[in-house]
Amino acid sequence: MVLGEVRKSGEFVTPGEKLGVIEEFIPDFGTYVNDGSVHSKVVGSLLLDLTNRKVSVYPLTRRVNVPRVGSLVIGTVVGVQDSLALIRIIKIGTRFLSGFFTGLLHISEVSFRYTETMFDVCRLGDIVRAKVISNKNRTYHLSTKGLNFGVIYAFCSQCGGYLTLGRQRRLKCSSCGHVEKRKVASDYGKFIL
Ligand SMILES: [Zn+2]
Repeated sequence: MVLGEVRKSGEFVTPGEKLGVIEEFIPDFGTYVNDGSVHSKVVGSLLLDLTNRKVSVYPLTRRVNVPRVGSLVIGTVVGVQDSLALIRIIKIGTRFLSGFFTGLLHISEVSFRYTETMFDVCRLGDIVRAKVISNKNRTYHLSTKGLNFGVIYAFCSQCGGYLTLGRQRRLKCSSCGHVEKRKVASDYGKFIL
């Protein structure tokens, strides 16, 4: 494979993407080598220097906002199973996204305490604050361990009404009065999206 035939300068690349093999190109800025192939380290624009046979990637940090390990993210719960929740990431730090990234919250990463079931943690439509702890295989693994993390807005699973935080950190539906459990963040209901 000749790299120049399949890849073009200016092409948009994401972290981990294979750019070519070391026999063809010398890895330069914004790249790394794994098992003889060159990969992009960053989100950016590909630059192929065909004269010097160098491959580099120039980061587009101002234009593209991608979750990283350590990022604080805010997302909507789009799926809940007994030991897993799927969260569509809508915001990284203070910046909104297009809703393209999905994170996984496993029950073991919910709290420092034991969690019996994910249904006591979050429900469909809830808004959650979490931290990205890994992005292996391009899957964002999230954690809500700690006081600042967890559900910041929750909605009644019976009627969809907003749940207000009452005494003993119990959540009660403002419409139908149903009482529910969540793993709430310390600023539940106060955070402005
Ligand atoms: Zn309700």
